Parts: sequence; C-alpha cells; structure tokens
Amino acid sequence: MSHVVDSAQCTSAVSGLLPALACPTCRAPLAAQGGSLVCTKCQHHYSVVGDVPVLLDAASKAEIAGFRSDAENVRLRQQLGSRGVARLVDIIRPPHPFAFTRRRVNHAKRIAFSQLAAASEGNASPRFLDIGSGILGGLNHSGLSAHVRSNLLPLEIAPTSGVGVVGDAHKLPFRDGSLDGALIQGVMEHVRDPFLVVAEIFRTLKPGAPVFAEVPFIQHYHLDPVDYRRWTHYGFEQLFANFTCDDAGVAAGPASALTDMLTEFPALLFKSPALYWSTKLISGWLFSPIQLLDAVWGGAPRAHVMAGAVYFLGRKPAEAA
Ligand SMILES: [Zn+2]
Repeated sequence: MSHVVDSAQCTSAVSGLLPALACPTCRAPLAAQGGSLVCTKCQHHYSVVGDVPVLLDAASKAEIAGFRSDAENVRLRQQLGSRGVARLVDIIRPPHPFAFTRRRVNHAKRIAFSQLAAASEGNASPRFLDIGSGILGGLNHSGLSAHVRSNLLPLEIAPTSGVGVVGDAHKLPFRDGSLDGALIQGVMEHVRDPFLVVAEIFRTLKPGAPVFAEVPFIQHYHLDPVDYRRWTHYGFEQLFANFTCDDAGVAAGPASALTDMLTEFPALLFKSPALYWSTKLISGWLFSPIQLLDAVWGGAPRAHVMAGAVYFLGRKPAEAA
C-alpha cells in the first residue's frame, strides 16, 4: 500500500471538514494555510498529519504526553517488543469478561442510535463523532447503519490509523451545533472532567442529534491510558441530564462483572507486570464461561445492582440552542 500522500487529495479531505472545525482554544473558525490550519482569531497554527488535523493546544498536548507514557498496557506492549510476540498474546488471551453481554446489548443500542440518526439522512455532509474509540479499529461499530458508518469521524488523542481528527474531548475542535450524532464508548472513565466532556458533546451536536454513551460500573481499575471513575446507571443518566433520554440501563450484566472480578483477583498478588498479565491469562480462561450466565442475569430485575457496564442513549433537545 502506498504511503505517499497526494497534496490535492489531502487538501480536499481537510477542506471538507473545515466548515465543522473550530479552534480548540478559542472556538473560532479555522482556515487552511499551506499544509496546516490556522485559527482566524487567536492565530494559533495546527498541523495536519496525512489527512488528519491535529487540533490540540499546548495544555492538552502536555496532559496527553504525561499519561500516555504512564499507561501500563502501552509500556507492556513496548516491552513485548516484536510484533510476533504481541500477535501471539492477542491469539491466546481470553475473551474480554464483558464480551458476551456488552457486545450483544451495545450492538442493539447502536441499531437504536442509527434509527435516531436516520433523521439526518437529508443533511448536507452529516458527521457522527466517535469519541476515543479510533484505536479499537471498528470494534465498537457493530449495529451502526450504513449512513452512520459512512459519515463516521473517529476522534483520538494521537494520529493513529483509522483516526479522522486528533483532539481533546474536553475541548472538542468543532463549531457549535455542527455534528449530527456522537458515540462515546468505554471512554468517559478515562477523562479528567466528564461533566465538561458531556457539555462539549451537547454544544457541538445539532438540536435533535443523538448520543450513545457507555461506561463501566463494576470493572477492575484499568490503565488505558488512565482510569478515574465509575458510574451507577442513575449516576450516568444524571451526567446526561440536559439531554432527552430515549433509553438507559445495563450494558454488561452481573455475570460479566463477576467474571471480571474473579479474573483480576488472583493476579492482584503480583507486582511484576509479566506475572500479573500471565496470571490473568490463566484466570481469564478459567472464569470466562461465567459471563454466559448473563443470558439470564443480564435481564434480571436487579441486574443494575452489580452491572459490569451501563449505557445512555438520548438526544440533544430539539428546542436547544
Ligand atoms: Zn483560536
């Protein structure tokens, strides 16, 4: 595959995005200037890597550089070194403790999100922001309609493959009311100020545009790249209080949470990353079948009491400015 970037093509991809983009610092429109973007108000310059605008200010860059170097799984990947070893680990590692219910429920909720998003089918250049799941390479996309998939804009904190825009969720680099929908899955526990992130989603969505969000409730602490908090199902609904709620509830059931706790428990004894991760490899396979009990417990009347993850599906009110 060619890695040569055609400059005319690069310009057209970025200029297609330009009407929606804004300076992350002062929210003013951006203008193309040579190979970079410049803020029309504060004059700050932003680089474009390939076709990906890197819209981070100095404060965001410093924060991201700090916690990326701390991420334990990133460091372990580096220690594993060769791609062969990393691939072997990918093959032999057990299914994620939430794989069974979370995948099933989220698939259904993404179908529901797509139905709400169908209202934007007539819009000129619709845009659906996928906040923070760029690195998963589409793992969080099952159930999305062709309309949503073909207009998906993955936002990440670094220009890795599959990313559309590099930005900080606390300072979304988009204009007010410029987006037709937003997805944020398994991300909110990793942001410093979730209230600010939700306010940014609210600001950038068009009135009536849908949001689908999912977070862990009972899940072990995971550095990916940094882990700050958990939500109950009511707590998560509260976070989205300014939105109209279409649906909210349990994304991963109690059996998923139990599988996760049992997998983690024996590995806690080990400080060494090698011993910690290899113990999890064994306990993960040993306890993984337990998550299948969520075929029953996932729909239990009190499933929310020890759910592994919760979700919110809603819309920015149509009358919102
Ligand atoms: Zn600016």
